[in-house]
Amino acid sequence: MITWEKTSSATWLAPKKVSLDEIDPGGTPTAPGDRAATEAKVEKLRTQLADLQDAFRAEESGSVLLVLQAMDAGGKDGCVKQVFKGTNPMGLQVTSFGLPTPEELAHDFLWRIHARCPAKGIIGIFNRSHYEDVLAVRVRDIVPRSVWLPRYSQISNFEDILAASGTTIVKVMLHISNDEQKLRLQKRIDNPNKRWKFRTGDLDDRKLWPEYMRAYEDAIEKTNSDEAPWFIVPADKKWYRDFAVLTIMIDALKALNPSHPKFAEYDGIVVD
Ligand code: ADP
Repeated sequence: MITWEKTSSATWLAPKKVSLDEIDPGGTPTAPGDRAATEAKVEKLRTQLADLQDAFRAEESGSVLLVLQAMDAGGKDGCVKQVFKGTNPMGLQVTSFGLPTPEELAHDFLWRIHARCPAKGIIGIFNRSHYEDVLAVRVRDIVPRSVWLPRYSQISNFEDILAASGTTIVKVMLHISNDEQKLRLQKRIDNPNKRWKFRTGDLDDRKLWPEYMRAYEDAIEKTNSDEAPWFIVPADKKWYRDFAVLTIMIDALKALNPSHPKFAEYDGIVVD
């Protein structure tokens, strides 16, 4: 198990008691400098992540799962694009979880999630996740409290199973401000090439911002564990968000100390 407190990612580890109002979404703690300096560092981190992923993929001894959660326009898609730019797409498995289909709703809420958990050698990326079942579902009152409340411990038990089976789990909340969301949603509406990302339902959720913040705080507090820690990443500045998530991914892979398998039995083989 990773001792996250001893890594560079410790900056973003969620505290035991979470108060999102006290974490500045525009902050840049431990950034190497201004935007230009941080972007230069991001380039280096991309190379580092790519090298680690190469060995991790070859070794196939464990899997990594990155769970990304954020409010609408929180930067999840951009984060996936930017953080994994240098990596080999063959070793990635990205899943976006939207409104459950009728078939998914006919099963328990973790059914569709479990099916997309990464195999050994694979980095799984969840763009939204099982946490929607205690976030959107709770805030929009989709199921009664008696159904969503036990889900926190159900989720923790589920994540324990994954961890015990060799999955390193990192859960990241991209923390944006209400003002930044307003700007980004307006941009989506005004830019014809971005409009496809907008849904009027985003505005309904925006009205429920305070309820979402409380639901996030609860979800993070109740499911934060050594095996499946939460990180809260200030995400108003996209260049900073990329720096933070790259750092977390590198720490996750570094701790596994991946190395290319030796295949000593092939020593001396000569190809005719
Ligand atoms: P995104 O907003 O992530 O880019 P979409 O526009 O397809 O993608 O929105 C997905 C929507 O599905 C979000 O509003 C999210 O809250 C919702 N959603 C995801 N999972 C669930 C769930 N289990 N129950 C209810 N709503 C969910």
